[in-house]
Amino acid sequence: MISLREVPLSGDRLLDWIFKQFVVFLNRKTVYIIRKKRLKKANSHKGEVLLGLTVPKNPKNYLRGTYIFINSAKCRHHNRNEETETLIHELCHNIFSDSRHRFINQLERVLIENFTTDQKNLLKSFIPRHEVKN
Ligand SMILES: [Zn+2]
Repeated sequence: MISLREVPLSGDRLLDWIFKQFVVFLNRKTVYIIRKKRLKKANSHKGEVLLGLTVPKNPKNYLRGTYIFINSAKCRHHNRNEETETLIHELCHNIFSDSRHRFINQLERVLIENFTTDQKNLLKSFIPRHEVKN
């Protein structure tokens, strides 16, 4: 559990506000980040490979929380910094859940370019090192 008083800041109030939303979300006990190879869209016949995927909490599928999957294959993300960029993308989906994908991609780029290294490292620390099979 990371206190919001201790998080690194950039000095840009809007950027830091979004960063704090991300930290609050990641601090929830019901948010799980899972690294997984061969991450594919459900029911995709083409077998479209995904970099990341959010499966939100839903009483219908009995999920206990929100699952953020990150593709752990080395050919998809060369390192943990690239995995962190995908985590930022998925966090945008969760915090701005009504936004269209085009806007999510634009926001993702702005955040990646403007979060400080310390901010990105804090987000990175939420990504587990182990990966799940299938
Ligand atoms: Zn997306």
